[in-house]
Amino acid sequence: MKWDLTDKALDSSFRHAVEAASGQGLSDCYQCGKCSGGCPVLPDLELSPNRVLRLVQLGLEDEALHNETVWCCLACGTCNTRCPMNVDIVRVMDTLRAMAQRRGIEPPSSAARVWAFCRSFLDCIEEFGRLGEIALMGSYNLNSGRLFTNMAKAPWFFLKGKVALSPHKIKNIGRLQRVFKRVHQMEESVMRNP
Ligand code: SF4
Ligand code: SF4
Repeated sequence: MKWDLTDKALDSSFRHAVEAASGQGLSDCYQCGKCSGGCPVLPDLELSPNRVLRLVQLGLEDEALHNETVWCCLACGTCNTRCPMNVDIVRVMDTLRAMAQRRGIEPPSSAARVWAFCRSFLDCIEEFGRLGEIALMGSYNLNSGRLFTNMAKAPWFFLKGKVALSPHKIKNIGRLQRVFKRVHQMEESVMRNP
């Protein structure tokens, strides 16, 4: 992929905004690529993590916020452990994703299902405090718009007693839900005052 650097390159305001929000010094990154070398989702990504950092370094805001990598990052932290400059790449990805959300940027179609699964996972944890196959599948089908995905297999799972219709809630679920509620309030506050 080629980027048009003629009029946008070397605009440092976007890089400064990402640095301030993430607490990371992006000038420290010298593009060695060790972070990308360990990234487990790299084969499925159009842009490697170090290239995303390069976009930010160059001030290419649109390109940095409109790419699947920031939505598909697993936050596994492998890149962080490999970086010789101690750049916290997970925090940079989190920051870019939050910036994209504040600007109303949706995940690209190639990342939409990953993001739908992420939301479903968190919805399930918020509701029950643990994962349940049926709850997760149902939520994912709704969030992804693929209503009948895996439905043909559901009767077999029920008959074999492999899945419960609804997971049991953990004890003191209210405490966990208060944490989620607080996080939702903080997110709404940030969205109102970007
Ligand atoms: S490992 Fe660190 S220095 Fe190397 S490209 Fe990745 S972020 Fe930059
Ligand atoms: S945290 Fe994200 S970018 Fe880093 S190695 Fe894991 S998936 Fe790749």
